[in-house]
Amino acid sequence: MPNKAESTKQRAGNPFDVWQAIERAATKGFESLTEDDLFLCKWYGLYTHRHEQGYFMIRTKQPNGIITPQQLKTMAQITEKQNKGFADITTRQDIQLHWCHVNDLVEILNRLKAVGVLTVGACGDVTRNVVGCPVAGVDREELFDGSPVAQQLSEFFTGKVEYANLPRKYKISVSTCRTWCVHPEIQCVALVGAARTVNGATELGFDLRVGGGLSTQAFISQRLKVFVKPEEAVEVVRQITEIWRDTPEYREKRHRARIKYLVHDWGAAKLRQVLEDRMGRHLDDAPADYAEPPEAYRDHVGVHAQKQPGLYYIGAPVLVGRITSAQMRRVADLCERHGDGKSVRLTNRQNILLLNVPEANVEKVLTGLAEAGLSINAHPVRRSVVTCTGMEFCKLAITETKARSRQIIEYLEQRVPLEEPLRLHITGCPNACAQYQIGHIGLMGSKTKVDGQIVDAYDILIGGRLGQGAAFNHAVLRKVPAQDCAKRLEQLLLGYKAQRREREAFTDWAGRVGDEALVKLLSGGNGHPLAPEDDVPTPSVPESDGPVY
Ligand code: SF4
Repeated sequence: MPNKAESTKQRAGNPFDVWQAIERAATKGFESLTEDDLFLCKWYGLYTHRHEQGYFMIRTKQPNGIITPQQLKTMAQITEKQNKGFADITTRQDIQLHWCHVNDLVEILNRLKAVGVLTVGACGDVTRNVVGCPVAGVDREELFDGSPVAQQLSEFFTGKVEYANLPRKYKISVSTCRTWCVHPEIQCVALVGAARTVNGATELGFDLRVGGGLSTQAFISQRLKVFVKPEEAVEVVRQITEIWRDTPEYREKRHRARIKYLVHDWGAAKLRQVLEDRMGRHLDDAPADYAEPPEAYRDHVGVHAQKQPGLYYIGAPVLVGRITSAQMRRVADLCERHGDGKSVRLTNRQNILLLNVPEANVEKVLTGLAEAGLSINAHPVRRSVVTCTGMEFCKLAITETKARSRQIIEYLEQRVPLEEPLRLHITGCPNACAQYQIGHIGLMGSKTKVDGQIVDAYDILIGGRLGQGAAFNHAVLRKVPAQDCAKRLEQLLLGYKAQRREREAFTDWAGRVGDEALVKLLSGGNGHPLAPEDDVPTPSVPESDGPVY
């Protein structure tokens, strides 16, 4: 028997037909939307709020993180008029607009469309936003500019009915930078820049990875060990997508309906064979000397010289990804006045970049960003922290995240001087929208009891590593009351600073000293017992269909 989601999709036929219900609801109200309609609204990037009936979150699609000043200004207008004056940047380089009333949805979606912003396929069982290196095309170290391929893939899959009923969400990345900043390790399908030598000449293309994913069971993507030319990319990804779409057994259980399980069950070699059979030809082998990059700091905050002489890109940290309408306007204005007037990018670390700034204008942009509360001179945890939406809007959340994360960051930056990179990920339930498993430190939402009261808590996970030797972090301490997390992280980081060897990275240090030492640091001196009177099991939540990211 098909699960509920599959039944709904079968009844709907074409999920995009829900548009008529969305139009109808603009006049007939929220009550006119059926349960099926509300499920299918996701195909237009719409999720209902946790608390306020009649309000929706709208997620946009910004392929490769590309956004223009005009689009930013339109979103600023929408957030001012229709909601509370802010938006969230997501880990897939999208924007989420909250507080959008059912009566206004059609108008808002049309306003976004008029400036080239689509929401079609931002959620639902489809290809989500295709992510790409936000400095593609300007990065001095990149192999080549992969953003045209990201755009082609996005255009190919967006809004097509034949790809509108995949078993579940489906995530693609394209990256040709040296640091793998878009995390190909955790994508369903990842095209990663590669070079090979053919008849003495260098040929540029992609190494293909499949089957990564997080959620409640995390997998690192595997290499198919094939070399994909840029002009082959759409066809190869199309064929993989169709193999996945047309393998029905993975539709039976919703929580198993991810390509990561197919890759895990089949293995990369079998998938490659099935792919080649389907394509009717042998795919080229990846170069034998292909190597994954070492773990690297993958953000873009600060001022960076571009490959184009005299031009710079400037990355500004947006704390917990929450950007106000005033900040959106200011970034748009700075781009128009001091940049090239068109090139802004969003990053998967929920930050924002201006590209193509002439050297003479760099200081003006930095001053403008600082005035807007987006100074580039930021503590490593401010520039790197990633958080999901949490209790504020998400129906699956166990804990609040954005405000708590802000508190933790503001506490740590006052007390722990740190120059070293640190990936801190804070997520409100095991669904991992904030990708807690790849954090050097991950906080995963839970509940516990303090003085007889049930309170928010977090499991603290340590040791995520990306690139060569990629590995997920693991829980070192569970159910730490949320109010204690900042203090405990302070103790941990001060311990790291005191004990590390020269240039020793956080994860290397954590692995060397071991969990017992980490627990000791995390539990010292705050008066709360290590195992609080904990009779509160971690609430179980259904697998996320992406209520927020
Ligand atoms: Fe956060 Fe996603 Fe869980 Fe919601 S479902 S709390 S956004 S991890």
